[in-house]
Amino acid sequence: MIQLYIPLNFLGVLYREIKQSLTDLDRMFALMDREREVADRPNAPALFLPLPPGEGQGEGAPASNVLPVSDWTVRFEHVTFAYDPARVILHDVSFEIPAGKTVAVVGPSGSGKSTLARLLYRFYDVQQGRITIGGHDVRDVQQASVRRAIGIVPQDTVLFNDTVEYNIAYGRPGASRTEVEEAARAARIHDFITSTPGGYQTMVGERGLKLSGGEKQRVAIARTLLKNPPILIFDEATSALDSANERAIQAELRTAARNKTTLLIAHRLSTVVDAHEILVMEAGHVVERGTHEALLARGGRYARMWQLQQRHGGDAVPAA
Ligand code: ADP
Ligand code: MG
Repeated sequence: MIQLYIPLNFLGVLYREIKQSLTDLDRMFALMDREREVADRPNAPALFLPLPPGEGQGEGAPASNVLPVSDWTVRFEHVTFAYDPARVILHDVSFEIPAGKTVAVVGPSGSGKSTLARLLYRFYDVQQGRITIGGHDVRDVQQASVRRAIGIVPQDTVLFNDTVEYNIAYGRPGASRTEVEEAARAARIHDFITSTPGGYQTMVGERGLKLSGGEKQRVAIARTLLKNPPILIFDEATSALDSANERAIQAELRTAARNKTTLLIAHRLSTVVDAHEILVMEAGHVVERGTHEALLARGGRYARMWQLQQRHGGDAVPAA
């Protein structure tokens, strides 16, 4: 079982990226190769993350090797990135998410929005520029500590082949059943779970009960609400939900994001109107930026996208 433990642990960290089943070994090894590319520097310190009493820093980070973080400001400074050197995906992208604020990113599919999320979570390292959390370059600190500080609701969630309870509690190992249920209620998935024969012990994932895209998304939201980290990434986190569920959960996500440093990638512009700043991405460039009001007044791309969505009754439409 020891041999199994290591790859599954890897997958735990990398669940965002696993688009195929957990049994796809080629894909898993490719991920592990990439993981080595972004390996920690020797003796890299951990970002200090205050945890509830009784929980250690995990991963055995000695107290002497911990960097205090006084505020969870996130900064992208002149970030240029390519998955493949032949094709640059992000061009000189700079923005700041002040601690406790929300910065929203909108733009057509393929413009590089999810790539921003992947870089902040440090699935990849940037080629130029840097990304900092609390002033620390993410390449200089323990990757595991970066990931403990961030809760991510990805566009496409892959669940572990385990119980639904495990899949939610993964957000905070050691969470009580009551806490898991509370998170599941907030994510509007509790009633569904209790309607299955096994309840919270129902096996999900490739070898268990197959959940719809929206159900998986709600499990990922519950996991993130339970984790309750200082930094949140929502990558079109409610795109697979029907509109009634989406409205209810949007309210929960707004509450969760209060006082958290939040990167909100949105397909529905109604969710970004209160953001501290909105970035409009196109082909890897930030082509417009500002508050909702400023962008409407500007009468550019954002204003056109807004008018288009209003006309469609608030439904997301592909950005032109
Ligand atoms: P968005 O989230 O705005 O739809 P993405 O950030 O997912 O856009 O993708 C931006 C561009 O990067 C797209 O052209 C996409 O094809 C490319 N891309 C995404 N992931 C990879 C990858 N793992 N390898 C190579 N190219 C990728
Ligand atoms: Mg995306």
